[in-house]
Amino acid sequence: MMTTFTDLTPRTFADATWAEILPLYNELAARSLETADTAAIDAWLANWHAIDTALIEAGMLAYVASCSDTTDAAKESANERFSSEIGPLHQQQVVRLASKLLDVEYSRPDLEMAIARFRTRREIFRDENIPLERDLEGLNARYIKLTGAMTVEWNGESIPVPQLGPFLLDPDPDIRERAFRLQLRAYGARRDDLADIFDAQLRTRQLLARNAGFENYRDYMFAALHRYDYSPDDCTTFHKSVELTFVPAIAGRRERRKQHMELDALRPWDIAPDPFGRPALRPFESIDALNATTEAIFRKVDPVFGDYFGIMRREQLLDLDSRTGKRPGGFCDTYPFRKRPFIFMNATGIGVDILVLLHEAGHAFHGFEASRLPFFYAWNPGEEMAEVASMSMELLAAPYLSEQEGGFYNAKDYRRARIEHLDGMLTGFAWIATIDAFQHWLYTDPAAADRDERDKLFVEIWQRFDPGLDWSGLDAERAARWHRQLHIFLYPFYYIEYGIAQLGALQVWRNSMENQAKATADYRTALALGGSRPLPELFGAAGARLIFDRDGMAELVGLIEAELATLGEPAA
Ligand SMILES: [Zn+2]
Repeated sequence: MMTTFTDLTPRTFADATWAEILPLYNELAARSLETADTAAIDAWLANWHAIDTALIEAGMLAYVASCSDTTDAAKESANERFSSEIGPLHQQQVVRLASKLLDVEYSRPDLEMAIARFRTRREIFRDENIPLERDLEGLNARYIKLTGAMTVEWNGESIPVPQLGPFLLDPDPDIRERAFRLQLRAYGARRDDLADIFDAQLRTRQLLARNAGFENYRDYMFAALHRYDYSPDDCTTFHKSVELTFVPAIAGRRERRKQHMELDALRPWDIAPDPFGRPALRPFESIDALNATTEAIFRKVDPVFGDYFGIMRREQLLDLDSRTGKRPGGFCDTYPFRKRPFIFMNATGIGVDILVLLHEAGHAFHGFEASRLPFFYAWNPGEEMAEVASMSMELLAAPYLSEQEGGFYNAKDYRRARIEHLDGMLTGFAWIATIDAFQHWLYTDPAAADRDERDKLFVEIWQRFDPGLDWSGLDAERAARWHRQLHIFLYPFYYIEYGIAQLGALQVWRNSMENQAKATADYRTALALGGSRPLPELFGAAGARLIFDRDGMAELVGLIEAELATLGEPAA
């Protein structure tokens, strides 16, 4: 193994053993740094950046290869080696070098946030929490295994629960009712096993928080998630504001839907399907068509984004089509060594595919812009800003989706696609507020140790945000719903970020309606800051602010409602 840092590439690490990699970190850890010698510190940081970007990219390449072809055992074991063997050992070295950086008390404006995140990580770390973290990983694995193995009987066949998805959208109300009930009953049937897992998670998480000097796990997680710029009280304000602004708007939309569907009562399985029973939109025939039209749309948003997407096409940084042997789902990540993003998804030709691609491309453009910053650990802001990049792109691109503008849809389908997007956004806030409020309660009220209380409180909280639905005769299904929200089990407290980001994206969209060029330029400026500045500054650069208050939300709800009114309703 060579030790000239400038010669390192992902290829260096593709098959390297940890014993070969470790000396590079030892060399950096052993180098003596003086606070006054900033040139030496900058050189040290550049070396650290060089190893980590090459090593992380080697791991990413292995991951992407295994996602693209799940049938290849060699690819799977290469990925497994990085994720479970090299990954954790690498993290220890990050902590070790971060500690050295903190000790030398050096900073630059673009490093301030990386240093703040390193400091928090060191402050809340406790040796005695290492076995607890391992216990929590085991509990998470139990949840994944239990829910992943759930099946239901459908037309005489045993199928995994997620395969009920298309039936939940069926125009026939009997079919979707059956699918809806079966889906939640599958969770209800395992309720006590799920409650056992959550009991253990709750106890372990609270203990871990107390070990780290926090009163409860909520406060610990606010630190662990680097929420420097908003508090639990702000979240409570957020919930109230959603209740006062989004919930009445949702009630209005549901009432309209009930009329369109000519129903006496809107049942929970009536809110997902197309209200007019139309088949799903099929806006493109091939991946080439999807790529060409999307590139033309980005070029209209900003020629720079068109160029970025063109690079991704030419350099084969897009794996978009659904095929057998490919892992499901979608994501975007940036190869840190090449400084190039990569998008993975499973497009099948439906309207949602376009939204997913616009969304992931927003993350990709963030990667292009932020990777110009010299130090890797300054690139990534928290999810609150990462999702502003992606959600804003869904909205900035929206005006160009119509055929008239060179996009995908005729006038009628354009209206339908836009209405579905905006409706989904409105209801998204109700669920975000529900899940966040419930999690705050779980970790701050001792009553949450009781499984019956948990189910009861969940329904009470959800009722605040879920207007106009008839749940009669569905008490068990309703209480079972939170067990399906895997964030509560696997990624505690990670959820309100989507709401904070969506409010940021809606402000970017508002600005674009007043001055498209300026709004887009501001958006790019914000992306280029990566994770180098505090959240309010990142939002500010994008022409937005952090919104928790009622007035801020009311303005944006008004904007969505005005757009929905302009789009009108299609004739049945
Ligand atoms: Zn995203």
